[in-house]
Amino acid sequence: MFERLVGFVREIYQTDTFIPLHEPRFAGNEKRYLNDVIDSTFVSSVGPYVSEFEHKIAEYCGAKHAVATVNGTAALHIALLLAGVGPGDEVVTQAVTFIATCNAIHYCGAESVFIDVDSATLGLSPAALAAFLEQHGERRDGGVYNKSSGKRIAACLPMHTFGHPCDMAGLLKVCGDYGIAVVEDAAEALGSRLGDRHCGTFGKLGVLSFNGNKIITTGGGGMILTDDDELARQAKHLTTTAKLAHAWKFEHDRIGYNYRMPNLNAALGLAQLEQLPQFVAAKRELAGRYLAWGEANGAEIFQEPAGAHANYWLNAVLLDDLTARDALLEYANNHGVMTRPLWELMPDLPMYRHCQTDGLENSRRLAERLVNIPSSVVL
Ligand SMILES: *Cc1c(COP(=O)(O)O)cnc(C)c1O
Repeated sequence: MFERLVGFVREIYQTDTFIPLHEPRFAGNEKRYLNDVIDSTFVSSVGPYVSEFEHKIAEYCGAKHAVATVNGTAALHIALLLAGVGPGDEVVTQAVTFIATCNAIHYCGAESVFIDVDSATLGLSPAALAAFLEQHGERRDGGVYNKSSGKRIAACLPMHTFGHPCDMAGLLKVCGDYGIAVVEDAAEALGSRLGDRHCGTFGKLGVLSFNGNKIITTGGGGMILTDDDELARQAKHLTTTAKLAHAWKFEHDRIGYNYRMPNLNAALGLAQLEQLPQFVAAKRELAGRYLAWGEANGAEIFQEPAGAHANYWLNAVLLDDLTARDALLEYANNHGVMTRPLWELMPDLPMYRHCQTDGLENSRRLAERLVNIPSSVVL
């Protein structure tokens, strides 16, 4: 099966050379806009492309506001602060995620609590979350507290893995019952929807990333999405050193952050965004080819959950067990076809080993079986 899969990937990408997992594609107005920025001299944190990019992303996602940041991790940090996460708090999140998710939680002085994912979505499981809160949650002083740690559970941070939407209806129901704020890590999910709603617009705040490996890139960049006017205003303020608008005075009213996206990056992002519908269509078509190949070859390719329209940022094949997983990783990587396992589960990393978890049954099973396969846009 491994040889056939590697052969099929080579057939898709039509090359005998190295095939990366995900490479960016620049086939639109990138050079034009970048030259325009350089000619204007406004390459840094002031310039018209930033607001234009924010406006176009908000429109595409159906969010009222979008605030651009220097990267997705910074966007997560600010979104969590604005959701009210602070020192001594806890945030419930999933064990299956990229490190940025829980790093941002800990930048706020809070601790992560790692809950299991659903095998059907690869995202935070509403049932596992409800079970955890049932057992450990205690409502008091207008909040929810974790009986075992004594800490306040300030927010819930689900992540849309590989662009596959979490069960947001289920998560919003559980979090609504407990009055827990939801912040979505939609870093991998630009172009993914549930019904007609875009990922990142279900919670109080949502976050996107435009890192070089994401579906569109600004080099490095991120975005905070929200429908709340006041939160959007604060997001802009906090990411721009909390400077008060004035013709010439340097006045700041709190300790802010230099998290603003430069105009240069926004110009690249705007050109990329113009091609996003085409990228999503191409990636869905590629996923369709992998799924058909899987069916014909008795291999399990991960398919989007029911009701979802995923961007299929990264495709995944599910092997029988850890031995088969490692055999595929060895074979494909040795044959110039880049493949990667799931991230190490967050609570298995030294700095998060002390964090509370539930059983993580599905997370551990997925970590043993899942391999990401090349998923760059093919046109
Ligand atoms: C890419 C990514 C981020 C943000 O990463 P940056 O490189 O800081 O833009 C956050 N969470 C997840 C799950 C990601 O994949």
